[in-house]
Amino acid sequence: MNIENLVRKNILKLKPYTSARESHLNGILLDANENSLGSVVEFDELKLNRYPDPNQNAIRESLSKLISIPKENLFFGVGSDEIIELLVKIFCNPREDEAIVCEPTYGMYKVCCDINDIEVKNVPLDSNFDIDLISAKNSVTEKTKIVFLCSPNNPTGNLLSKEKIFELTNSVNSIVVVDEAYIDFANDDGLIKEAIQIPNLVVTRTFSKAWGLAGIRCGYAVANEVIIKLLFKVKSPYNINKLTSNFILKALNNKSKHDLFVNEIISERKRIENELKNISLVINVLPSDSNFISFKVEKPKEVFSFLESKGIIIRDRSNQFNFSGYLRVSIGTKEENDEFLKQLKNFKG
Ligand SMILES: *Cc1c(COP(=O)(O)O)cnc(C)c1O
Repeated sequence: MNIENLVRKNILKLKPYTSARESHLNGILLDANENSLGSVVEFDELKLNRYPDPNQNAIRESLSKLISIPKENLFFGVGSDEIIELLVKIFCNPREDEAIVCEPTYGMYKVCCDINDIEVKNVPLDSNFDIDLISAKNSVTEKTKIVFLCSPNNPTGNLLSKEKIFELTNSVNSIVVVDEAYIDFANDDGLIKEAIQIPNLVVTRTFSKAWGLAGIRCGYAVANEVIIKLLFKVKSPYNINKLTSNFILKALNNKSKHDLFVNEIISERKRIENELKNISLVINVLPSDSNFISFKVEKPKEVFSFLESKGIIIRDRSNQFNFSGYLRVSIGTKEENDEFLKQLKNFKG
């Protein structure tokens, strides 16, 4: 499969902007009109007066060691949301091409396509919230450039079948994006190893969930080198700033804390899942491979508002496609979870 056939012609032809810090990060730097005197606010030894490394070398090397994926197969974005946006920009011609989403799922895929005037086809997940392979294959046309998948899926919480994902990457002539924002909470390695091998597979991950760094906006993509090079070609020159890289390096050196968080969240998830099943107003509890649980009630709006009035904010997902009645709760601290369960039991419909 030749990925370049899927790329927008203007992107293939594009001569990317070359930034000053592309070639030199050290020396007597009089090339970028920065302030050589210093910065008004200093932070550690970060030299914030200088532009950051456009090639993201330090964080790519550090992540490469941690997840055993070559640096050449890694790209960092301002949240995984930026990576989704860049992929749409690289592959989808506005007012011409199409993308596929499998609802109920994360809303950003459609929003991003809508902003770029790309038609979005919904191929609903099946009754187990897994990929409907026949429907997906039938919905792909020669205009379909990206199929968006989310595993574990938000808001249903489950992993998608790997066999189905591979059948899709094998049979369609489009990019398959697998968003693994919640993979740390699943008992599964995800698809990063495969993403290096399969030319049309891109896996995205984020520091916003298990790593607890939503505030610094950082995510990454794992893919073959052709796609990684395209991402570098179209990103804004200095997308990852020095403060963010600095925090990512510290985080990657503290993986044990990440693991502690994950273990605690998984153990609380089990407890909440069991407790929810024993609350009579809860009609259904979806098993979760993520850091949230979706559960069904008779009156989702009323339950949501009742909890809100008690200061407990969950997410009403009952308006989502094929998801009526469902509310989604993130796993919090033990105390937060206790309070949520206590108040939920107090709801009188
Ligand atoms: C939270 C979430 C993300 C994270 O996006 P960032 O831009 O990295 O914060 C990505 N995908 C899904 C499905 C999510 O729920």
